Amino acid sequence: MPVYNKEELVRFVEEAKQYARYGKVADYIPALGKANPNELSIAVYTADGKVVDAGDVTVKVTLQSISKILALALVLIDRGEDEVFRKVGMEPTGDPFNSIAKLEEVQPSKPLNPMINAGALAVTHMIRGRSVEERIERLLAFIRRLAGNEQITYSEEVAQSEFETAFLNRSLCYFLKQHGIIDEDVEELMDLYTKQCAVEMTCIDLARIGLVFALDGRDPHSGELLMPLDVARICKTFMVTCGMYNASGEFAIKIGIPAKSGVSGGILAAVPGRCGIGIFGPALDDKGNSLTGVKLLERLSKTYSLSIF
Ligand code: GLN
Repeated sequence: MPVYNKEELVRFVEEAKQYARYGKVADYIPALGKANPNELSIAVYTADGKVVDAGDVTVKVTLQSISKILALALVLIDRGEDEVFRKVGMEPTGDPFNSIAKLEEVQPSKPLNPMINAGALAVTHMIRGRSVEERIERLLAFIRRLAGNEQITYSEEVAQSEFETAFLNRSLCYFLKQHGIIDEDVEELMDLYTKQCAVEMTCIDLARIGLVFALDGRDPHSGELLMPLDVARICKTFMVTCGMYNASGEFAIKIGIPAKSGVSGGILAAVPGRCGIGIFGPALDDKGNSLTGVKLLERLSKTYSLSIF
């Protein structure tokens, strides 16, 4: 087990920040456009319960696509593998996260995996509950347990901002509805999905959730099983094959850590048996991953030999 040391992490953050000028914050969700591209923070939560961090880890980051892995875990627990994978596939796409293209090619039509928007919408559709409020509360309760933080909630501002502008996601929903993958009201599903994406937390919370996955679903402090081993395994596998969108192959080769990113600039990473990592760096590359965050993870992975391969 490597000893992560604060001075070294601070140095790595400063190095990675130099790349911020090559990135761009996401502004297709207007509220995310306000982020400072020079921000970069990281928390490493080790299996012995220690946290080492660098940068301003009090800043909250909205999960965006990171929420896809948490919604998937909940839905797998709720409904089991067979039902979930009847509606969504297991294969990487090689297309951007919001692409509609492959939906037309696959017969019968079904989103290729739960990490692209079409697949994530199908997964969110499967969250159980009688109303949007009950469903988001169930997801929040699950996320709070994983993070060990009862305060976690969603940003009304970011949820509203995405809800008002999510035309492409609405079109994905209508396509899915036409093909019988979803059968609920599209506006309700968008309400739930945009709230799910706007759940916000610090890098320390992200790192602790990463650690739960790294420990095969166990709470790092109590040892309690927060999700079945199989669910943790499926989620980590998707993180490797599709977690960084259509940059997942390069990420696996250069970094080799199961990880999930979001267009807010957040990354949640799980180093099996060793640690969870949470990163916030809103300067994104052209695939929508945190450019500075990926640089930072690459440095960490090389320094501490974190690749699982
Ligand atoms: N809420 C975002 C969207 O659906 C999440 C996308 C992402 O983080 N890649 O567009």
